[in-house]
Amino acid sequence: MIDKILDKDNLTKEDLKFLLSLETPEELEKLKKKAFQILKEFSSEKVYLRGLIEFSNICINDCYYCGIRKSNHNVHRYTLNKEEIVDSAIWAAENKYGSIVLQSGERSDSKFVDLIVDIVQEIKEKTKSEILPNGLGITLSIGEQSYEDYKRFFDAGAHRYLLRIESSSKELYGELHPNSLNWENRNQCLKNLKKIGFQVGTGVMIGFPNQTLDDLVNDILFFKEMDIDMIGMGPFLIHNETPYADMEEIYSKRKEEIYKLALKMIAVTRIYLKDVNIAAATALQAMYPLGREAGLTYGANVFMPNITPAAVRGEYQLYNGKPCLDELASDCLDCVVRRIESTGRTIGFDFWGDSKHFKDNNLD
Ligand code: SF4
Repeated sequence: MIDKILDKDNLTKEDLKFLLSLETPEELEKLKKKAFQILKEFSSEKVYLRGLIEFSNICINDCYYCGIRKSNHNVHRYTLNKEEIVDSAIWAAENKYGSIVLQSGERSDSKFVDLIVDIVQEIKEKTKSEILPNGLGITLSIGEQSYEDYKRFFDAGAHRYLLRIESSSKELYGELHPNSLNWENRNQCLKNLKKIGFQVGTGVMIGFPNQTLDDLVNDILFFKEMDIDMIGMGPFLIHNETPYADMEEIYSKRKEEIYKLALKMIAVTRIYLKDVNIAAATALQAMYPLGREAGLTYGANVFMPNITPAAVRGEYQLYNGKPCLDELASDCLDCVVRRIESTGRTIGFDFWGDSKHFKDNNLD
């Protein structure tokens, strides 16, 4: 039955659910093989780098699962200054990254928005070279903002935006977030980003309480319906200073199951959506040391080495067990190269590594 389904051109909801339920090593091998075949056929087997700069852990929100939620008063709050952020970006360009992600907790005050516009413009200007005539590719991951502010970021030179929906189910979204955040608004933000012209990324958490396989199938269908270009999704991990802390024991027993499910989600999303970019999430490595490499073998094609200055990296912990907290960016790069090459893949150095899906839909 598995071969017949993997050979189909148009997978149904039932097929997606069947693929997410696979368990045996033989079945998982077939799933991986198919995902890799689709990746090669519709995108490229190259792995693209995004230097991740977590420039601030200040957040106005209180998502129940998140370690830097505003009501966690044990976190030492920081915001890197403009020079530190721009220097990290220049380091990324000099080390052939091609693209960066600027990520932070959510703020929408004008001081913050102006700072982002300023930083994006300066990074674009200072990283232009013969190899990168348009400077570094910049992805922003700074939460829900107004249409006008998204437009300002785009006009400043950012061309990708990552905003996770966390669950395509409004009900489950409501269980993960306080009332101040609503699903409709986040969905509208994704539509606004598309309309402005961003390459749009979203994603979900995998394995949180009350989520079923049907919900995950609906998540994949949501990615398709929203015409998403990039996917960043990962396993649900507990942070011990959140309302989920008392579930730590239950979740330590579910670790293997959720890890496998997260990998299957990558493969099935690859098989169904074909030409999108999919990140091998750091959260996979927080579960198992070789988790990110496994993500690549299941069809991911984007790797996000953390290049945040080591002095503050430990203060940006969305979940317990985040890896590589005290490594220098240069150590991290060596390690990343080894990790990626160990999977038999090559690295797309000095490329923006845009989503093929976006390019094909936006031909001049
Ligand atoms: S998940 Fe994002 S928006 Fe929610 S509390 Fe954490 S940093 Fe803030």
